[in-house]
Amino acid sequence: MSETLKTLILGSGPAGYTAAIYAARANLAPVLLAGRQPGGQLTITSEVENYPGFPHGIMGPEMMDKFREQATRFGTVVHDDIGVSVDLSKRPFTVTSETGTTFRTETLIISTGASALYLGLPNEKALQGRGVSACATCDGFFFKNKVVYVVGGGDSACEEANFLTKYASKVFLVVRREALRASKIMQDRALRNPKIEVLWNQNVTDVLDVSKGKVTSLELTHTKTGEKKIVPADGLFLAIGHKPNTELFQGVLTMDDKGYIKTVPGKAATNVDGVFAAGDCQDSYYRQAITAAGTGCMAAIEVERWLEGQHG
Ligand code: NDP
Repeated sequence: MSETLKTLILGSGPAGYTAAIYAARANLAPVLLAGRQPGGQLTITSEVENYPGFPHGIMGPEMMDKFREQATRFGTVVHDDIGVSVDLSKRPFTVTSETGTTFRTETLIISTGASALYLGLPNEKALQGRGVSACATCDGFFFKNKVVYVVGGGDSACEEANFLTKYASKVFLVVRREALRASKIMQDRALRNPKIEVLWNQNVTDVLDVSKGKVTSLELTHTKTGEKKIVPADGLFLAIGHKPNTELFQGVLTMDDKGYIKTVPGKAATNVDGVFAAGDCQDSYYRQAITAAGTGCMAAIEVERWLEGQHG
């Protein structure tokens, strides 16, 4: 692509599309590369009930279709393509995509999101959204009076287990060691909750039953004795951490020790002038669609002002 873009957006979750809507309406003619999972993490959840404006909820994939429709309505050009290499050492920046297109751009908005870590079990993906989830806040509501298992021993696992007790009749916390990694206060909350039972030294080693199209049971394996057992279950929540999708920028952008891009406090600007980050790739704390959208908006407004600063 020979022209130099005013702004290129990487990623098509709420952050990317919101940045696109704002940038397009500011006549910046944004181009957006949708990335490996078009629509982002919301496409793997079921119903979104906490996004303002949808009082009766909306299915995650449908919501992301609407985001895309709104972004393109104002002229965003969306490519179902993935940025695979970047050169941020000089302006215009260049981004080369998987299909071999090289984009030159004055500014870059990175909204590549984060991916929940999964156990890597063969049936896990097939049962995603059918009992397997990595987001209790998103999906907990669907487990009223059900029996659910949460895997992990960190703050997320304890928090999600506690949250799930609002709905589920019983929550098992599956911990692979004999200790929790979570902060003391989070541990105490989980351990004191009468609806939570901790299963120490256990791993979930299989999820059943794909033939029934939903989670019906799990295989647990004792990490020390190797003893296996099948337990009935309605849901499996993974809380073993998230990984920001920022490999492309390693060594170029300032990141924290987990790989989340560091932005100027209260802003979307990164340490490279003209490069902005929004959404979960720079947020390990809130990780909500609404906060991602908010930071996408911030990034686009900062881009607009940055360009004004360059061109007067
Ligand atoms: P963490 O990395 O802190 O914890 C991950 C947990 O998952 C660990 O207990 C780990 O076990 C376990 N685990 C990892 N891989 C596997 C596996 N393959 N099978 C079984 N268990 C596994 O991630 P979190 O998402 O909990 O937290 C991320 C950060 O966010 C932390 O800094 C945390 O403090 C923060 N946070 C804070 C909250 C709050 O303050 N309210 C809420 C949520 C998160 P092991 O211990 O054996 O390694």
